[in-house]
Amino acid sequence: MDLPPVGARVRVPVGSRTLTGCVVQHDATLENGTGAKDIVEALDREPLLPEEIVALCRWVAEYYVAGIGDALAVAMPPGTRGRASGFKKQRVAMVVGSDPGDGATQGLESPHHRGLTPRQREALQILAAAPAGLPTSELRDRGVTTDILNRLVRRGLVSIRDANDERDPFERAALADVVPDAARELTAEQRHALAEICDLADERDFRVALLHGVTGSGKTEIYLRLADRVCRAGRQVLLMVPEIALTPSVAALFRGTFGTRVAIQHSALSDGERHDQWHRIRRGDVDVVVGTRSAVFAPLERPGLVIVDEEHDASYKQEETPRYHGRDVAILRASRAGALVVLGSATPSMESYQHAVAGKYRHVTLERRVLDRPLAAVRLVNMRTEYAEGGPDVVVSRDLVSAIDDRLRRREQVLVLLNRRGYSTAVFCRQCGDTFECPNCSVSLTVHSARNGWRARCHYCNYSVMVPKACRKCAAPYLEHSGFGTERVEEELRRRFPDARIGRIDRDSVRRKGALTQLLSKFAAAELDMLVGTQMIAKGHDFPRVTLVGVISADVGLGLADFRASERTFQLLTQVAGRAGRGEQAGEAVVQTLYPEHYSIQLACRQDYPAFFEKEIAYRRGMRYPPLVALINGIVRGPSFEEAMQDAREIVGRLEPATAGGAFTILGPAPAPLGRLRGEHRVQFFLKGSRRAEMRNALMEVVNGMPEIRRRLTIDVDPLSVL
Ligand code: ADP
Ligand code: ZN
Repeated sequence: MDLPPVGARVRVPVGSRTLTGCVVQHDATLENGTGAKDIVEALDREPLLPEEIVALCRWVAEYYVAGIGDALAVAMPPGTRGRASGFKKQRVAMVVGSDPGDGATQGLESPHHRGLTPRQREALQILAAAPAGLPTSELRDRGVTTDILNRLVRRGLVSIRDANDERDPFERAALADVVPDAARELTAEQRHALAEICDLADERDFRVALLHGVTGSGKTEIYLRLADRVCRAGRQVLLMVPEIALTPSVAALFRGTFGTRVAIQHSALSDGERHDQWHRIRRGDVDVVVGTRSAVFAPLERPGLVIVDEEHDASYKQEETPRYHGRDVAILRASRAGALVVLGSATPSMESYQHAVAGKYRHVTLERRVLDRPLAAVRLVNMRTEYAEGGPDVVVSRDLVSAIDDRLRRREQVLVLLNRRGYSTAVFCRQCGDTFECPNCSVSLTVHSARNGWRARCHYCNYSVMVPKACRKCAAPYLEHSGFGTERVEEELRRRFPDARIGRIDRDSVRRKGALTQLLSKFAAAELDMLVGTQMIAKGHDFPRVTLVGVISADVGLGLADFRASERTFQLLTQVAGRAGRGEQAGEAVVQTLYPEHYSIQLACRQDYPAFFEKEIAYRRGMRYPPLVALINGIVRGPSFEEAMQDAREIVGRLEPATAGGAFTILGPAPAPLGRLRGEHRVQFFLKGSRRAEMRNALMEVVNGMPEIRRRLTIDVDPLSVL
């Protein structure tokens, strides 16, 4: 048998079973203990995965210290593990000989058609209007039964074939109704930015541009024109977005411009839809792929441009193995393909901005909003004063209430952000102090309003319990809520503005499929006056009627033991303020905070990114944190704290000799901030240094020699969250 090519699927015996695998290499030297296995069956003659994607997966596996199988699993289309092709089959009927020009209806009067019943004639007429044929299921809906079709087939007038039914995710997402304004003139600033990036694109070589444009500066328009240019030059485009459901307009504009030459790839699609889209890309039927994180593995043959929109967004990082960062893999992919990368953001990540400052990336800026619309004016409300005057239960400050009132009167729209879901963050007994903690994780349970009372739920492991009317311990009826989340804010706003139409967007309210799209389109159609929500409302939305953004508690993220807390707070506040005043009316943001003097809050108010970067980079330099050093986070899980600690000490002890060369230092081991998760204790350590490869290799060498501990160790290279 000829060897199946790299990228082809094969069936291989593993233990007593036969599994599907993918050929990654032909001349591998086998490691000790790995036995060569015969290939039972080759499933593909041609590679399913292009060789380049296999190579990308190998890089991801090595860089992120993951298994090659895990990386391949992200790149593979769904439904390819077994033998089935994964296509949904459907039967398509068409008039025989209905090539263009045949004039099938005129043929209805020919001798072949004598003796047809009226319903058979009707069926032929319907089919004649669709030269490419119609699915039998659709014909049935239109009254053409299988019986009628079969009779027509027997008379040789109609043929039926099996076709792959391509499921179109755009239709379901109701995105297709956005038509780009081709005649729109770019502003002078947009023109200059576009020209600068086009020059880079024309070099047809690996380049990275950071398109740093304030919120509402019209970045999407630049992406579109750039994509068009690259397609015309015969190369393909990959557009990555954080979450398609949250920013449907970018995807819709691309669809409106490139029509069916666009494929869409994201995890909310059904397996069937993802599979079909993947194969359209693989066949070369598309010029443009729009997708989330995993779209970075889309099987495009000639990528010439990769755009990463909102490149700072944390959803590009996968928080399970392989723990890759979509933006960073995109850059690697482009470097191998000789393509241009455009990273777009109003609040670039520290990593990307650092590269731009250092001259590694071309720094292209848009300093103003389109049509010289002003950025939202931001007003800070000091909640300490508010509590002193209004009591400790104030949720919405007087300033914010009157600002909302104002907008509602003028029939303008309002967004209210609180980046914490649920009703309250804890319940406790006022008599004995009993609290509701998660039995599996070291967190207190978040309280949600339920149909028949309160339900306390763990946001990590999903454990939940109804909150009783009286204390479980002392039976006193004095249970009290502390802290509050979006549900409470919604309740408060409904109480204060009984006539306003209010919607809520957070992970809980959009659990049902389609709920998010529905809420967003209702808001866009002005059927809602106000949206309350978590950071989901702060993403790239473009709602021109929003003139006010309220932030209930700007400090939510600042208390976390995470070196990126300030960066995240700055990004979130700047982004959410950026949702106001995008239309003709100027916008305003009212920000409630306990720390009005904190630099990330101050500078977000002024929307002064460069000043924030200077301040933050000095802090990172002082503390030796990324982007000035590379970081690898190791988390050891164990049945008890002592066991986890002992294993972590063992790893760190064996790693210590490798630090002698000065390539890196080790921090820890120490209890992780989230000390217990899903019933396991967690201990963490860090490797800090500048030479990532050496750090990785040293760690791998140590843990490969301890397979027992390796199973309980999570390695996160370039971690985004260190909790
Ligand atoms: P960003 O992504 O930079 O926040 P968008 O691309 O969403 O900004 O553009 C903001 C708004 O400005 C959108 O409503 C868009 O349609 C509009 N817009 C973009 N370019 C122009 C232009 N040249 N003239 C008029 N309006 C524009
Ligand atoms: Zn839990």
